[in-house]
Amino acid sequence: MKKELLLAHLRNIPDFPKPGIQFKDVSTLFKNPLCIREMLDEMVSLYKDKGITKVVGIESRGFVMGAILAAELGAGFVMCRKIGKLPGNTRKMSYGKEYGEDTIEIHTDAFSPTDVVLIHDDLLATGGSMKAAIDLVDSFGVRDIYVNFIIELRMEGLKGREFLGNRADITTLLTLFE
Ligand code: AMP
Repeated sequence: MKKELLLAHLRNIPDFPKPGIQFKDVSTLFKNPLCIREMLDEMVSLYKDKGITKVVGIESRGFVMGAILAAELGAGFVMCRKIGKLPGNTRKMSYGKEYGEDTIEIHTDAFSPTDVVLIHDDLLATGGSMKAAIDLVDSFGVRDIYVNFIIELRMEGLKGREFLGNRADITTLLTLFE
């Protein structure tokens, strides 16, 4: 994979959304057709032999690559959304954040017991949101769960990968140390 191409197009925005955060802005990857193709080809090569039947995208940056990857893999696409956005009956999972709590949900009819699920998001930081998504998908009783991120942040005090445990096999396209 051409990591340099992706790194050259990833934008860092300091102090967003608050002082001290280095925000990794994937919109500059998404707007570049070569970067989309590079990410997609890599993700397809990682997952084409895994028998994936559903890709779950985490709102909202996980929807972009998640949906086109689903099409490439011949899988269905499922939205994991913040509470109150999905119109049908849903199953919910709450998780702790730095300040307060958040809840995500998925439609109750999203999976069947034979599904092999890939959950995708843009970035792994603390792992809090992905852990909640894994637990939520796991509660449906699917056959297997894989997890993919475009970016994994590895910094002092960030133990996202460890926090996710070993329920799901995890891959990331880029690992950043700052
Ligand atoms: P976490 O639950 O801490 O792993 O945070 C992951 C979610 O927050 C992802 O959906 C990211 O889009 C977003 N996020 C957290 N930290 C950053 C960052 N430094 N740059 C960009 N997005 C971030």
